[in-house]
Amino acid sequence: MVGTSFLRVHWISGDYKGAIDYLPWSWFSREGTASDLTHEFLGTDGVIRSARCSVMVRGKSVTLDYGGKYSRANLRNYCEPGLFKIVFKSHTRKVPDQLWWAEDGGDFKPGFAIPGIGQEDLEAEEGEPKFVAHLRRERAPKLRERKIEQVLGELRELRCEACNFSFRDQYGSLAGNFCEVHHRKGLAATGPTGTRLKDLAVLCSNCHRMIHRTNPMMSVEQFARRVVQERFTLSAARRARQRRRKDDQSDQVGRRHR
Ligand SMILES: [Zn+2]
Ligand SMILES: [Zn+2]
Repeated sequence: MVGTSFLRVHWISGDYKGAIDYLPWSWFSREGTASDLTHEFLGTDGVIRSARCSVMVRGKSVTLDYGGKYSRANLRNYCEPGLFKIVFKSHTRKVPDQLWWAEDGGDFKPGFAIPGIGQEDLEAEEGEPKFVAHLRRERAPKLRERKIEQVLGELRELRCEACNFSFRDQYGSLAGNFCEVHHRKGLAATGPTGTRLKDLAVLCSNCHRMIHRTNPMMSVEQFARRVVQERFTLSAARRARQRRRKDDQSDQVGRRHR
């Protein structure tokens, strides 16, 4: 499903500091109560899990209940039972104003979470939580630096392992030692720990986005082969078009001379 959009909720204090909830905007569109809904959240360990709740939409406010019959399932998934309340600026429920959290049986308190901002929050792509989690792990700064150092040490330059793009050739001194570092194995395959340098690949930003569009995700080697194939197919088609155009032109010239 393309175009599913989420309200991102960033947890900024307490045990869940650093976690992000992805709440589908569609949940807030109509008044009423819905039970047994699940949404994905990014844990503080960079792992995507799902949380189960009921959702009550009334006027300017939406309350998500993670407790009661959902408590056990949520605790198993490292999601704390409790009530989360969003108060919006107006009845259209498009702009969050205040976010409140109440631990199971406790009072509502502010200051735990803030809404994500920016247009991309409203127009997030389907599957984005997984991509965000993946990027977050790939950006673990130490590992990234060591990977870049290693590649520079061995090859003296950073080139995309899929398409051979060189940031330095294209952007000169602007490029610095920039490149994207991609985790060869998917998030699920490795769990939260144990990344090694050989699990990481240097990619350009375009290839990085593209490889993440493949599902299941291709290996860097598969993807690199495919890029070469696609280029060949495209240039063959281009040559055929040019040949046809030339033939047409010489046909017209021939007719004129007759
Ligand atoms: Zn590339
Ligand atoms: Zn990646």
